[in-house]
Amino acid sequence: MAFDRVYLDWNATAPLSGAAREAMLGALELPGNASSVHAEGRAARAAIDKARRHVAALVSADPQHVIFTSGATEAANWVLTPSFKMGRSPLTIGHLYVSAIEHPAIREGGRFGRVQVSEIPVLPTGLVDLDALKVLLERHDSSAGLPMVAVMLVNNETGVIQPVAEAAKLVRAVGGLLVVDAVQAVGRIAVDITELDADFLILSSHKIGGPKGVGALVMRGEVMMPSVLVRGGGQEKGHRSGTENFPGIVGFGAAAEAVNRDLDLTRERLLQLRQRLEAGMHAVAPDVIIHGEGSERVCNTTFFTLPGLKSETGQIAFDLEGVALSAGSACSSGRVGQSQVLMAMGQDPATGALRISLGATTDDNTIERALIAFQRIAARRKMPERAA
Ligand code: PLP
Repeated sequence: MAFDRVYLDWNATAPLSGAAREAMLGALELPGNASSVHAEGRAARAAIDKARRHVAALVSADPQHVIFTSGATEAANWVLTPSFKMGRSPLTIGHLYVSAIEHPAIREGGRFGRVQVSEIPVLPTGLVDLDALKVLLERHDSSAGLPMVAVMLVNNETGVIQPVAEAAKLVRAVGGLLVVDAVQAVGRIAVDITELDADFLILSSHKIGGPKGVGALVMRGEVMMPSVLVRGGGQEKGHRSGTENFPGIVGFGAAAEAVNRDLDLTRERLLQLRQRLEAGMHAVAPDVIIHGEGSERVCNTTFFTLPGLKSETGQIAFDLEGVALSAGSACSSGRVGQSQVLMAMGQDPATGALRISLGATTDDNTIERALIAFQRIAARRKMPERAA
């Protein structure tokens, strides 16, 4: 990778933080299995417990209620299931209501059948439509089982902060369960599982400077639990057996500790940088549309449309200018698809949009470079328009 590249795709993944790297290098030197009773095993167990405390602190949860997984996608596929347990008794979840702007990891509905999943519409502001959720829940057929609602805390494309605590009130009124994807929220805003009144939070390590391939499901309590994810040796309280991803978990814990400690400073710093970026974009191209601009957003995300510039063309053009950004959600195949989020917000599906997301190492120089690229691309995109 060329040294002078500008990385502005932190919502896709964050580079490994120094804290995570150091902790992981230490973990690689520890020989023990956390399930062993000898000193080596106990050292590994202590390191996992420490990571669990740091991840719990990130969302003000009880460390006992953090279960490590291979990432947010796995955590979602575990918790989004009709098959629950209340103590030892089976409990059925009859229907899943997911917001139309959820990440595919959630929108796909986990282990629910297609007919058991309904979409909660989203307003043009980028906010989930709570009136529509209320109507959906009023119509819920409770003879089939309890309702489950999935509303993310921060959207990965627009950065818009969702009204989760208000959604929770509607869910409580019908005795349902609330699952919240907090992947893009932690490290950017303060998250408290009790204040949100969520039953489950989904987290991912690699969005906060931890390693890829590790995440967590955080529970509010242990009364209602999804059926066991992986049976075997009983690790992770029997919910997800298998020897732990030790360096991954340790790295996740260190990253969580660092972002939690630096939250206020990061938020203030990134907000200023993003304000500079957006002011510069408006000055260069007054017709630029910043999606969700009027709504409350996290400090690091700008999702924009430059009329006349398609997502594919724009992404390549920025890449050639040395700037890494993305066209919304990074899809697994590397294709640039139409943004489901924009469509859910009622925008023309043909509208191309690009996402700039900032992070720990973004500075004035990064923003300057991005604005120079933006200016050059904005100037060029008008030519084919006039010729047409
Ligand atoms: N949820 C959101 C909002 C995301 O942005 C992502 C990652 O792109 C995921 C879930 C999936 O996370 P993971 O890569 O850990 O499976």
